[in-house]
Amino acid sequence: MTVWNLGSINADMVYALPHLPSAGETLAASGLQRFLGGKGANMSVAAARAGSRVSHIGAVGSDGLWARDRLTEYGVDTRHIAEVDVPTGHAIIAVDAQGENLIVLFQGANHVISNDQLGQALSSAVSGDLLVMQNETNAQIEAAKLGCEMGLTVCYAAAPFQAEAVQAVLPYLDFLILNEVEAEQLQDATGLAPSDLQVEHVIVTFGSKGARYYQRGHKPQAFRAHKVNAVDTTGAGDTFTGYVLAGMDRGMPMEQAIAQANRAAALMVTRHGTADVIPDLKEVREAQL
Ligand code: ATP
Repeated sequence: MTVWNLGSINADMVYALPHLPSAGETLAASGLQRFLGGKGANMSVAAARAGSRVSHIGAVGSDGLWARDRLTEYGVDTRHIAEVDVPTGHAIIAVDAQGENLIVLFQGANHVISNDQLGQALSSAVSGDLLVMQNETNAQIEAAKLGCEMGLTVCYAAAPFQAEAVQAVLPYLDFLILNEVEAEQLQDATGLAPSDLQVEHVIVTFGSKGARYYQRGHKPQAFRAHKVNAVDTTGAGDTFTGYVLAGMDRGMPMEQAIAQANRAAALMVTRHGTADVIPDLKEVREAQL
């Protein structure tokens, strides 16, 4: 089976500054590091590291070919990542000496994915494949509809949260994953708690408090987080989702997929960085947690 990921690809540009700039201030950065980022890219890397065949559907500008190459190096099929005439999505991340940050996000190429590109990519998908989306690209509704028509297992990570975006794809979903805050926001917008949603599988993650799994018609199941020395929680959610998808893709019972995702995400928070440090299956299995 294949995990098809309609997902964002960002260049995370991290500038080290003595303090965060005020309006009108010009500040010299003492360092610049560039990382592969974007929720989509992170999830593709996580699912590939977990052993799945992953095909990423997305777009980069000519300034982002390195990001596409990086995904290829991580084992992701990048044939459906288009090169477009728009700058690659990026985040300008200013970090001060205390670790406080300020982020400017530019969605760029992530929002010019064409329906033709999407249709062409999914023309090689087969019933039973997984299709995942997050809220960082365009074409989510078209993809969800098409995936549903084709008999794909349609999955959605509701981040960054926008009530209208989730509500638009909700009727097509087999699997929805949200964090605690997003689940509350969805309930505020729709009046529906996770257990009320007409979706077969719903997972709510609670950071260091673990996760809860709701299967339609069943009692919710709680999963405790592993106790670890957390140094950087960036990408924990994306790693968790990628590992759950990989588990589903390989036919694991959902409980087992979640247990493995819980281990992978716990290991991830002990590391600094995002896509580049997502653990592989061997590390996850062998980690002393
Ligand atoms: P992010 O946006 O930071 O990537 P998120 O808000 O989408 O994360 P969280 O609910 O914070 O997602 O975390 C996802 C999963 O990661 C948790 O369910 C848990 O398995 C693991 N996790 C997160 N923080 C910790 C922690 N401090 N210790 C152990 N596991 C953690």
